[in-house]
This record gives sequence, structure tokens and C-alpha cells, in this order.
Amino acid sequence: MKYVVCVPDGCADEPLAELGGRTPLEAAVLPNLRALAARGEVGRAAVIPDGLAPGSDVGNMAIFGYDPVRYHTGRAPIEAAALGLKLAPDQVAYRCNLVAVGDDATMVDFAGGHPSNEEAAEVVRQLEAELGGDGVEFHPGVQYRHILVAPADWAEAECTPPHDLTGQPVVWPTGPAASRLQGLMDASRSIVGPAPIGANQIWLWGQGFQPQMPSFQDTYGLDAALVTAVDLVRGLGVLTGIEVVELDTATGWYDTDYEGKRDCALDALADGADLFIIHVEASDEAGHAGDVAEKVRALENWDRRILADLVPGLDRLGPWRMLMLPDHATPLALRTHTPDAVPYLLVDSATPGAGGTYTEAGVAAAPVVPGHELMARLVGVR
Ligand SMILES: [Zn+2]
Repeated sequence: MKYVVCVPDGCADEPLAELGGRTPLEAAVLPNLRALAARGEVGRAAVIPDGLAPGSDVGNMAIFGYDPVRYHTGRAPIEAAALGLKLAPDQVAYRCNLVAVGDDATMVDFAGGHPSNEEAAEVVRQLEAELGGDGVEFHPGVQYRHILVAPADWAEAECTPPHDLTGQPVVWPTGPAASRLQGLMDASRSIVGPAPIGANQIWLWGQGFQPQMPSFQDTYGLDAALVTAVDLVRGLGVLTGIEVVELDTATGWYDTDYEGKRDCALDALADGADLFIIHVEASDEAGHAGDVAEKVRALENWDRRILADLVPGLDRLGPWRMLMLPDHATPLALRTHTPDAVPYLLVDSATPGAGGTYTEAGVAAAPVVPGHELMARLVGVR
């Protein structure tokens, strides 16, 4: 038996006037997905447990089959794992954005003008040289997204994600460790400000300790692999021992290589992997951009450029099962994530399900199941 998990990031949405009162899942032309839903089982899953923030870190952890209530400690340690960092028990990881804060203390740009990896790494090297030490370490990551490692007692703070502050007055950290975080952010201005990038300081948030996740192989007894362009998903792979397949043409943007991801899945499964996770970020980015046409196009790309040939490819390998499940909704009208339950689809190549429609309305009457339990449903006995 082969298993495929399809993750159209943030694809769930709400009815839109621009789409004649339909959602992107309803408006998109999706013949292959419709056919799979007609032979499978559709339902509604809570990928974001009550009380947790609706982030891709939480939602993808649930999709991978791990209860975020039990295993999620923060976003930063997952991204740290993607960078190859292993935290000791007495270390906490913070996400360290390069950001632009205006003279009026508003968050001008949470992405610091999107510096290149090389430009940013030079700034992070200077931060490490001038502000590192006494257990504080700066580690370069991707573009504006970097990692600070600090002693464990630095974890005690409430921090606001900078992308939630765009155009608004900044909200500085609070709590017992706030003064240390504030001191580092203030000190960073004399280093980041003069650098030739669009940022003028660091912003610390998303902290957590190393999650103690058992391996996917120990948990589900299967060899798994994944493809993604997103650090968080890559980090979850590292933390669970799921092989991360490199695909240079995976961009994390609208122009990503859909066919390449499909072929990564089929090749890995043919080479002996039992389960493959295909993650595509484009639908989430379109949601954040409020770009209705791109969100519809991302779904149609899934259908035409992945599913159309994935299904016959899987058929050639033998019996298979598939789970399609986004990690959260990113409604175009809101341009941010929501914790609402999302549609799931389970298909078994040999055993027909009740059949249904894979849309928000199509599953609205279904009971909500915990998202992290669907992996066991996928690989277990139905
Ligand atoms: Zn996401």
C-alpha cells in the first residue's frame, strides 16, 4: 500500500462576491479532485486545536499526525530544525526577523525589504559578532527569517508576530524576559540600521524549546518522505525523521514546480517510500495577497499539474490511499489565517467511500474530527 498526503496550504476559504458567492474550491475547475471526492470520503477536520494560534506550524504538525496540543512548543524551534540546529534542553529558540520599524514606532515591513540570503547573512554575522555570547547565538536562515538561540529563561515572554502588526503600532514583548529581548532588539538598530537592506532592527517572537516528537517511523511504522519549499514543513520533517526531498524548482510561490513535486512523490514511492507528503504554499500566499485569481489558479494547478497524472502513476504502483488536507484556512477577504475547521478528503484506490464534494459547503454538515487523527485513519484500517 502506498500513501500520499496532499497539502494545499491555506486553501480553505469563504464565499466571495468576486466569485459569484463561491469559494475558490467551488469556483476552480477541478475535474480530477471532483472525481476523487466522488469515490472517497469527505469531512471536516480541526487542524488548529482550540487555544493554539492558526499557524502553518500548528496545522502541518496536525497533518503529519502529531497532536499540536502535546507536541507544539513554538514556531522557531521547528524552523531551527530546518536549519540543522539541535537545541539543548537549556536552550530556547526565537524567530529573529529583520524588520523595518518606523520613527513613529509602527511596523513598516515585517520582511525587512526581502533581503537576499547573502545580504541577510552578512547582517546576522555582524549581530553575532557584536551581540552574541553568554549563551546568545544568532543563526542565519532564509531572507528576513533568522534564528536566535538563548538560555532557557529567556523563554518567559509574550511576543507578537511582526506580520500581525503591519501598519500598526508595534507591540513590544511583555513578561519576565521582556527586558532582555527589548535590550537585544534595541541594540540591534545600530547594526541593522546602517546595513544596505530594507530593515532597521531585529524582531524576536515565536519562541519554543526543542519539540520532543517521536519519529514518524516509530509512530506509524512507515518510511515517509516529503517535498516543500517552506522551512516550517522542512523542519517538521527533520524533527520526525521524514526524508526531505530537495527540489530546486520548488519556490514557495505561484510559480512553483507542480509537476516536479508530483514526480518527487511518484519517484520516492517507486523507490520504496511508503508515504509521501506534497506541500504547496501558493494557495496560502495568494490568500495573504488577497489575490482571488491566483488562489483559484493554485487549486487548478493542483488538479491539472499534480492530480491528473499522480492518480494513474499511483495506480501503476499498486493499491494506494490519499489524504488531502490544508493546514488552515487563509480567507482572501481576511488575508490571514483562521482556526476554522477545513475540508478533508480520504480516498482508497480499492474501496469506494460514501462520496461527496470537496468544498467548504460540501462538508459543512459533517462532524469535526481532530486533524491529527487523520494520519492514523489514512494509514490504518478504515
Ligand atoms: Zn499554512
